Amino acid sequence: MKRLCVHTITTKPLSIEQCIEQFAQRQIRGITVWRQAIEGKDLSHVRRQISESGLEIVSLCRGGFFPAVSTDARQKAIEDNLRAIDQAAAIGAPLIVLVCGAVPGMRLSEARKQIADGIAAVLPAAEQAGVKLAIEPLHPLYADDRSAVNTMAQANQICDLLGSPASLGIAVDVYHVWWDDQLQQQIELTGRTNRLFAFHICDWLTPTTDLLNDRGLMGDGCIDIRQISDWVDATGFNGYREVEIFSNRWWSQDQHDFLDRIVSSYQDLYR
Ligand code: ZN
Repeated sequence: MKRLCVHTITTKPLSIEQCIEQFAQRQIRGITVWRQAIEGKDLSHVRRQISESGLEIVSLCRGGFFPAVSTDARQKAIEDNLRAIDQAAAIGAPLIVLVCGAVPGMRLSEARKQIADGIAAVLPAAEQAGVKLAIEPLHPLYADDRSAVNTMAQANQICDLLGSPASLGIAVDVYHVWWDDQLQQQIELTGRTNRLFAFHICDWLTPTTDLLNDRGLMGDGCIDIRQISDWVDATGFNGYREVEIFSNRWWSQDQHDFLDRIVSSYQDLYR
C-alpha cells in the first residue's frame, strides 16, 4: 500500500476535497491531481489540505497538446503549459505528465517535431520552477488526435533529441504500451538513462466499448500488469504505482465502493 497512488480523474465525480478525504481514509499514500479538479480553487489551500491529510502529491495531469496548424494556436499551447508549470509549483507537484497532442490530417512526423519544439520551449520554465516533465506515450489508437508519441522508443527519441535534460523523462502507462514487443528493453533503457519518472496502471478490457472511457480495474482485463511492473521496478524505480482509470461505467457507480475495489485489486496484484 505504501506505493499506491490514485489519480483524481479515476474518481471524477468526487471533488478534490472528497478525493483527499476518501483517499487518505483508505491509506492510499499518493494523489495525482488533474487540472480540472483544481479549476477555480485556491491552490495554496489545496496544497495545505493535501499535506495535512498525509497524502503525497505525485504529479499534475496534464500538460502537452503542443501540435497545432496555426502558429497562434501553438503559442497558446505553450502558454497553457507554462500555466500548468505555475500550477504544479503552487500545489507542490514535482512532475507534470504530458499528453503530447496530435492533429487529424497533420503528418505524424510534423506533429512529433512540433511536440519536441513545444517541450523545448517550456523546459527552461519547468527547470526554474523545479518541476519535471514526463512524456506519456499513448496507445496508437490515439495517434490521430491525442498523441503522435505512441511508443516508449519515440518518447526516448524526443528525450535524446533535446539533449537528455535531467528534468525531462517518461511516464509509463500499462494501458498504452502493454502491446509493444520492445517494452522490456525500452523500460530498461528508460531506467538506465534516469528517465523513468512515473508508472500508471489500469487494465485493457475486451471488448473495449469506448476508445477513451472504458478502462478496467486492475485484474479485470488482459494486461500482464505485474510483469510490466516488475520490469519497471528492476530499473530501480521505487516510486508510486498510480491508478488512472477513465471509465464511464465506474464513474456512474458509487465512488466509495469503487475506491474500495481499487484498494483490493491493488492488494491482489501486489500480494
Ligand atoms: Zn497515464
